[in-house]
Amino acid sequence: MIFFVHWSSSDVQYFKMESADMYCDECGSNQKHTYRMYEKKNKSYSVVTTSTDRSVTITCHGCLSESSIPKEQEKQLVERYQKEILVNQAIELYQQGEYSKALKKSKKAFKKDKNYVPAMMVSAQCLIALNKHNDAKKYVVELIKMYPDDEQVNHMREQIAQTCGF
Ligand SMILES: [Zn+2]
Repeated sequence: MIFFVHWSSSDVQYFKMESADMYCDECGSNQKHTYRMYEKKNKSYSVVTTSTDRSVTITCHGCLSESSIPKEQEKQLVERYQKEILVNQAIELYQQGEYSKALKKSKKAFKKDKNYVPAMMVSAQCLIALNKHNDAKKYVVELIKMYPDDEQVNHMREQIAQTCGF
């Protein structure tokens, strides 16, 4: 009998993060480039751990060549993109009405940066949707300080004004 044993597996996915115009050596001209973040999940069954390798590349829209970027810049982008991806996933979950799951995602984004404004916005909206107005208040208070004229922020304030009294 033959056993196929998978000792490890890995899944690679990538996210298109942002675009910028820059010079391409291959094309010899300015071209639009897209930043991609790759996430490679490594599962190892011999030990109970999973790890994720993250890397960032840029792809030229002219010649489609994909290149790596300097390590220091890559490190900074990985940090920023992780937060952005988490918040985007949180927004998607919010739109599907999965408020608790969305809140968990935004909490992960806060772990990377406790002052991350998009995570504050999503967290506040989730908490309002979950009727946890007092928990939402701390974010709304912060957001109003930063964006006193923002329509969305003021709408959130109105939503919790009666229960929280401000
Ligand atoms: Zn090119």
